[in-house]
Amino acid sequence: MSRWYFQGQVQQVLVLNASYEPLNVCTVRRAHVLLYKGKAEVVEQLDQPLRSATSSFIWPHVIRLVHYVRVPRAIQRKISRRALFARDGWRCVYCGTTSGRLTLDHVVPRSKGGESIWENVVTACAPCNLRKGDRSLEQAGMDLPHPPRPPQPVLFIKLAAPRIPQRWTPYLGDLGAATAAA
Ligand SMILES: [Zn+2]
Repeated sequence: MSRWYFQGQVQQVLVLNASYEPLNVCTVRRAHVLLYKGKAEVVEQLDQPLRSATSSFIWPHVIRLVHYVRVPRAIQRKISRRALFARDGWRCVYCGTTSGRLTLDHVVPRSKGGESIWENVVTACAPCNLRKGDRSLEQAGMDLPHPPRPPQPVLFIKLAAPRIPQRWTPYLGDLGAATAAA
């Protein structure tokens, strides 16, 4: 039974909050569990059903949680380089370069009590990171264009599903439209 969950090309399901805000993506199997338990409802489904030898199931494509879930800051997604670089548009926040090696920079250095939180990490090219070193922005005479913030959930959706299905785009706002696959 589990095998045919992986046969189709479209395996990912977009999960919306009760407010229709995009939350994340999950597998078809996970979506079926949420639907079966009454925790989610189908918003979009694919035209073809999922078939096994004896039965067929709907193929959920977008589901919506029945109850609104809060996404508290404290448990917001872990920082990864990939997500950080994507948040910052794959460019150095200090000089704007998109070429060269990108690094993770702590705005307030860890040696000065800077935390590894989204509000304190930025994408920096290796030369800028080296130039800033273990100093604060003021000490290094450098500037941030805007304060770093935690990324929107939609960023993680895009990272989890690099090829955004067309029928997800109405739920993803600008980011979905900009990156939709044909
Ligand atoms: Zn730079």
